[in-house]
Amino acid sequence: MYGAHDVRVETVPDARIVEPTDALVRVTRACICGSDLWPYNSMPTSETGNRMGHEFIGVVESIGTDVRTVKKGDLVVAPFAWSDGTCEFCQQGLQTSCLHGGWWGGTELDGGQGEAVRVPQADGTLVGLPVGPDHALMPSLLTLSDVMGTGHHAALRANVRPGKVAAVVGDGAVGLCGVIAARRLGAEQIIMLGRHADRIALARRFGATDVVSERGDAAIERVGELTGGLGAHSVLECVGHGESMRTAVGIARAGGAVGRVGVPQEATIPHAQPTFYGNITIAGGPAPVRAYMHELMPDVLEGRIEPGLVFDRITNIDGVPDGYRAMNDREAIKVMIEF
Ligand SMILES: [Zn+2]
Repeated sequence: MYGAHDVRVETVPDARIVEPTDALVRVTRACICGSDLWPYNSMPTSETGNRMGHEFIGVVESIGTDVRTVKKGDLVVAPFAWSDGTCEFCQQGLQTSCLHGGWWGGTELDGGQGEAVRVPQADGTLVGLPVGPDHALMPSLLTLSDVMGTGHHAALRANVRPGKVAAVVGDGAVGLCGVIAARRLGAEQIIMLGRHADRIALARRFGATDVVSERGDAAIERVGELTGGLGAHSVLECVGHGESMRTAVGIARAGGAVGRVGVPQEATIPHAQPTFYGNITIAGGPAPVRAYMHELMPDVLEGRIEPGLVFDRITNIDGVPDGYRAMNDREAIKVMIEF
């Protein structure tokens, strides 16, 4: 990406092993993320450009001399951040704060939207998949690299509990996966706040019991009507806009929690006083999806959840620029790239 609305497919130097803890992965599937749309709309023009993509599945082509947990030929899924798996934060399941980790892409590292990736800290980062690269569940397994784990994180941080009310702000892929997560954790009433017919239909299929298509104060009022005037116990904020956060804290009930996973686009959290007087917890951040892969994968493999349905368009590497456009124009929910 060279700037706003400027995504190019280019030939770059081949990915290769640099450190003994690296693995070289040939990408078989990747995707475009809603969070990629933030720079897509705002990135200043750059001479060098940034490698893009942080969600991928691929085959290990070679490993460094210190790598123990994956081997050549393994099919692996990568989380959206790489991590050593051993430091203080990794051990507590917060791999996105790894002391020796980092993020894909940029100017130094390979991105997932490319044919091959040098994976640092391969042992702490990659997770093997027990199926072949063309298995029918590939789309759902690919969501473990970000959106399904991120939806799950929002639900955990929002303290979703069996029998309670959860609300999801945002009908993008993460919000839709948040519906799956809320249902999976036993929420009885799941209110989706969204406006796009195709996304609402998917939300209902995933378990949403109510849909609120109003915005702003009207949305807050509508959620109030649906919850006996009390609001939701748990609110999953899956957008990151100031307005979506205002809605999220506005629909949380006293003593409730907002789990935010949308990258904040504003410097402050709104409604400091109402959230204070309501004892509302605001938590969340980048999801440590690496920590959730082993928990969520059996549900995918055994068919209990199907988050791969968020992919409504498939393209190849040459179609990536148009894939960005399609997601940005809300023509597509989420675009998968096949190599
Ligand atoms: Zn670590």
